[in-house]
Amino acid sequence: MKYRDDAAFAHEMDAQDPLAKFRAQFHIPQHDGNDCIYFCGNSLGLQPKAVEAAMTQELTDWKNLGVEGHFHGKHPWMPYHEFVAENAAYVVGAKPSEVVMMNGLTANLHLMMVSFYRPTKTRYKILIEYTPFPSDIYAVQSQAKFHGFDPADAIIEMKPRDGEPTLRQEDIEDVVAREGQGIALILIGGVHYYTGQFFDIARITEAGHKQGCMVGFDLAHAAGNVLLKLHDWNVDFACWCSYKYLNSGPGAVAGAFVHERHAKSFDLPRFAGWWGNDKSVRFKMGPQFQPMTGAEGWQLSNPPIFALAPARVSLDIFREAGMDNLRSKSTQLTAYLEYLLHNLKLPSLKIMTPANQSERGCQLSITVQDNGRKVFDALQKAGVVCDWREPDCIRVAPVPLYNSFNDVYRFAEIFKGAAA
Ligand SMILES: *Cc1c(COP(=O)(O)O)cnc(C)c1O
Repeated sequence: MKYRDDAAFAHEMDAQDPLAKFRAQFHIPQHDGNDCIYFCGNSLGLQPKAVEAAMTQELTDWKNLGVEGHFHGKHPWMPYHEFVAENAAYVVGAKPSEVVMMNGLTANLHLMMVSFYRPTKTRYKILIEYTPFPSDIYAVQSQAKFHGFDPADAIIEMKPRDGEPTLRQEDIEDVVAREGQGIALILIGGVHYYTGQFFDIARITEAGHKQGCMVGFDLAHAAGNVLLKLHDWNVDFACWCSYKYLNSGPGAVAGAFVHERHAKSFDLPRFAGWWGNDKSVRFKMGPQFQPMTGAEGWQLSNPPIFALAPARVSLDIFREAGMDNLRSKSTQLTAYLEYLLHNLKLPSLKIMTPANQSERGCQLSITVQDNGRKVFDALQKAGVVCDWREPDCIRVAPVPLYNSFNDVYRFAEIFKGAAA
């Protein structure tokens, strides 16, 4: 793709973009009467306009039907989580029976680790990527401690080579080959929240399985961002939140994937609740827990309808737009952003995200030596919404559903002024 550094080029790209129409389905925050340049979908995705009606529908059904809404609501509450499973499965490349929307991300990580982190005296380590998201490191530390291990010994945090911001695939595979027999669980953020590095999930999973490890992924920054094929890649389990790229609203219900081969692993320990119990006997209210097959068997509580309603309509949009189309526009948008940033020819500017498109999603993580914070403040003042992560990183994430090439062009213009 040949890019040009002028506004006309950005307009041409938008005019040819088959996904451009989706922007109108979202509320875009305003700044001085204009649309913000919202590059923060990696933190909180924007609100689809359809969400309001979807929420109102549930309020109306509750108002008019009371408890009967479980069966006679427009979208009956009893099987409500099933309405989102199919599209959620589509987004992560899974079968519907392998996916359930429930709880929050960190809670799901714990539930999955209860079943899939089964340390023994000789195989008890957890392999995790460099500087993981804090919640993930707290979760694995506390799981190791829960099983009586010292996190300092039990957790292997892979570090990039000196002077390199991201990990090399061959170095990951080396660690797995060298230490694999002592590793009970490999748990990696599929797309790194800070650097934007997209790991090779298929190859890591294969390498881990060869050593007898369980392999799970935190897909908070991957779901709805990159193409995933969790089923084909044989991943054991995965968890993700849906308020980031999946636009399902603040604190939205999270997702969990359990591979089909564990669907009937009823001997695996799990923390149980009545919504994980076999539907046919759930309301017999008996004391004997008979888990449902598949991911649904890990549910605890009846689903939070007001939290799932936005997910239902948001995931519909992903289905309609198509993940292949989204990824294809996304790689172009981000490559255009990268091109324009390089074109600024600022010696102080560095992009830590891999240049290789198959190793990143839409996010670029930028550092500006010495005056990064000043640049960030100027961006904000000019109506750019992106974020600052200590110590020196500006994360920008143009997303293909509601961002345009013109957004990217304007961003680069503002950046030029801010860094001057
Ligand atoms: C956003 C994010 C979280 C947040 O966890 P919650 O339980 O949803 O609050 C956790 N881990 C990663 C990798 C994230 O990117």
